[in-house]
Amino acid sequence: TELANSLLYLDGVTVSFDGFRALNNLSLVVGHGEMRAIIGPNGAGKTTMMDVITGKTRPDKGDVLFHGAHDLTRLDEAAIAELGIGRKFQRPTVFESHTVLDNIVLALEGPRGVFSSLFARLTGPQRDRIDEVLDTIRLGERRNELAGSLSHGQKQWLEIGMLLAQDPALLLVDEPAAGMTDAETAETAVLLRRIAETHSVVVVEHDMTFVRDLGVRVTVLHEGSVLAEGSLDQVSADERVIEVYLGR
Ligand code: ADP
Repeated sequence: TELANSLLYLDGVTVSFDGFRALNNLSLVVGHGEMRAIIGPNGAGKTTMMDVITGKTRPDKGDVLFHGAHDLTRLDEAAIAELGIGRKFQRPTVFESHTVLDNIVLALEGPRGVFSSLFARLTGPQRDRIDEVLDTIRLGERRNELAGSLSHGQKQWLEIGMLLAQDPALLLVDEPAAGMTDAETAETAVLLRRIAETHSVVVVEHDMTFVRDLGVRVTVLHEGSVLAEGSLDQVSADERVIEVYLGR
């Protein structure tokens, strides 16, 4: 069934804030190994959906299942992160006064991590993992530079790398292309497609050029529900989607 094959399964999820329904009977299925783009106008409920998945917001009703089994609505944020759901927020929060490498090491080591020359104490597999992550985010050659010296786009990639270091089963990525140059935006799509070869990913994004570059299935949210789902070409040809975006 759909549920058995799903990595993430939302069914009938409703969230109200003072009687206002930010999510209204939202249902969404993300398969194992899938990358999905979530789009929709401001206020559609995209952030609230991410908050529900990560346990930051508890729904009034509905099911949120991970691996078809774990009921995320009964778990707190720490327990959900522990299950392997990692979230990257829109604004990068790297440690600017530490090197690119130390940022990744800290993410890998978690709270036990202590800065500076920690790399030397890591095991072989841990080092391999870090090299792999640095390669994926294309910052291998900048590993010894301070994170603060990176461009905005590179900081976003570093933060994605910090998530990857923890090898989550599902990455939630919030507007990765926000504030990027066109070149960085294009490179970010390549980077996420590479990550999607080995990870499941949910990307919330406004930039349609970027969503097109991702080339994945798109879910359009509107007023807290799914309005349309399909390829970007399919959903952009949908009259209801056009109406919502152009206000006709
Ligand atoms: P999006 O991320 O798609 O822009 P949001 O999930 O941020 O949409 O918001 C959906 C709706 O819920 C909006 O109308 C927003 O004002 C409302 N909302 C979100 N969070 C809260 C909150 N904590 N309290 C009250 N209203 C909220």
